[in-house]
Amino acid sequence: MRDDSPNSWESRADSFSLYGFTDLPSVHERGAVVVTHGKGPYVYDVHGREYLDANSGLWNMVAGFDHPGLAEAAKAQYDRFPGYHAFFGRMSDQTVLLSQKLVEVSPFEKGRVFYTNSGSEANDTMVKILWFLGAAEGNPQRRKIITRVNSYHGVTAVSASMTGKPYNSVFGLPLPGFIHVGCPHYWRFGQDGETEEQFTERMAKELEATIIKEGPDTIAGFFAEPVMGAGGAIPPSKGYFQAVQKVLKRYNIPLIADEVITGFGRTGNTWGCETYDFTPDAIISSKNLTAGYFPMGAVILGPDLADRVQAAAEAIEEFPHGFTASGHPVGCAVALKAIDVIMSEGLAENVRTLTPLFEEGMARLAENANIGEWRGKGLMGALEAVQDKATKTPFDGSLSVSERIANTCTDMGLICRPLGQAVVLCPPFIMTPAQMDEMFDKLEKALKKVF
Ligand code: PLP
Repeated sequence: MRDDSPNSWESRADSFSLYGFTDLPSVHERGAVVVTHGKGPYVYDVHGREYLDANSGLWNMVAGFDHPGLAEAAKAQYDRFPGYHAFFGRMSDQTVLLSQKLVEVSPFEKGRVFYTNSGSEANDTMVKILWFLGAAEGNPQRRKIITRVNSYHGVTAVSASMTGKPYNSVFGLPLPGFIHVGCPHYWRFGQDGETEEQFTERMAKELEATIIKEGPDTIAGFFAEPVMGAGGAIPPSKGYFQAVQKVLKRYNIPLIADEVITGFGRTGNTWGCETYDFTPDAIISSKNLTAGYFPMGAVILGPDLADRVQAAAEAIEEFPHGFTASGHPVGCAVALKAIDVIMSEGLAENVRTLTPLFEEGMARLAENANIGEWRGKGLMGALEAVQDKATKTPFDGSLSVSERIANTCTDMGLICRPLGQAVVLCPPFIMTPAQMDEMFDKLEKALKKVF
């Protein structure tokens, strides 16, 4: 499959890249897929091979790879005003417009927005905001951050510390003061005889016990993805956010919704917190915010945090934080267009139309004897591979079975994501029903080949 000549794309990729988040034996054997361009939900590699991207890039290219409106919005803003002016009392007009828009489309009656270049930096920024607030309000000990096992919040030292994945131990993370409570995945972690409601109650009690053990006045915030993404597309157990928010309110701990994946339509509503019927204290956004056409993240503070942070900043006459490209005018122009494209030009509508087809396709594949469960919400879902369906025993082996399924799919021209023992799908919002059929047909063939 790979071209081994010294000057091939695969050899050059191997020689000069430090591959991130890549199974190295697999990429060395198969060669990297070097992509040149895309059309709708498809991408094409240097050999002209076509791949249907059921991964939306990395959950983000929801409008496909050649959306003319988004490219035009970027070009128009590059032509008009391409660059810097974000601080020191200056700000681009596009940044002002986007902040207003984000507060308008947020679940908050009022709020304030701060921009970053990525989701990781947005989580970092939110943690710094909470630390800033603690210090300013006479609670400098309020620094601990609670997240969940299996959560994903990013890769910077702080956001990786928040992430509840074991691989971060290779960096000596988490940093002290980052605490992980249980993952609300009922199918995997529910105990024998425990109902889903009882499981949720146990999760909430565990959170409360952790808060009490750590000292309620040492906790700065609790962060959660409405549906866990990189943990394997895991929706919360029934009533989870209501139960958890009740506990957090008891101890005045802010609930931050990390909506980097779920924001802007993925679960069928603008926000995942809408889908699960709770109002957080702040929202972390990225990815769909620009439909993947510009690297950008945003912290959207709800009314209480917005007022308190603003007061704390006024008291010292500054909020001393920001990135060179915070609120980049091209990113803001692209985001304004992306929000329009998703919310007003039929993409969000298409998610709602496609969801029943997606659920049907997933349920059909889950009939396979080696698929333990399918789970998901809206247009994000996972098929969990098991050796034994009745006992839920996972496969073992160095190259996980999900990696083999994903590799087989790649060979057939379908990109999907292995995550743990699950294969995760998060198709772009522009998919057609025919493309969805193509996705499931290819995946079904791959499952037959592997099992
Ligand atoms: N939060 C969530 C829920 C994510 O899924 C991701 C990335 O996948 C991040 C944060 C980090 O975003 P970024 O990769 O843009 O730093």
